[in-house]
Amino acid sequence: MAYDPNNIFARILRGEIPCKKVHETAHSLAFHDIQPVAPTHILVIPKGAYVDIEDFSAKAPDAEIADFIRAVGEVARMAGVVADGYRILANNGRDAHQTVPHLHVHIFGGMKLGAMLGHGEATQ
Ligand code: AMP
Repeated sequence: MAYDPNNIFARILRGEIPCKKVHETAHSLAFHDIQPVAPTHILVIPKGAYVDIEDFSAKAPDAEIADFIRAVGEVARMAGVVADGYRILANNGRDAHQTVPHLHVHIFGGMKLGAMLGHGEATQ
């Protein structure tokens, strides 16, 4: 998947459209998902233009990677989901149904999260 500079998260980063910001660091931004599927559903994104984890892990400087992982942990603490547990998830590519081509980690919490994968039928 190619990076599209007009993807919705790039536009949020440029301030062209609003978001419900939770946390911001030098290299990362966290905001509430617009269609939450759990009481806590927050997205954490790097500010750099990376399509997915593959792109990020291959190209991002260590400082950006450290900042991003620390931001995920900090947001979970801020959201109050650490004690009861939470799930982080990053959809990468077609088979995972990634819909926005800018790396994002979902943080889900505030409810029993059930099985690791959903009910979709596995296809080859
Ligand atoms: P994914 O399917 O992993 O690519 O997830 C993309 C997520 O972005 C979905 O959960 C959407 O609800 C969320 N989303 C799309 N547009 C926005 C937006 N403007 N603000 C916040 N979340 C958004």
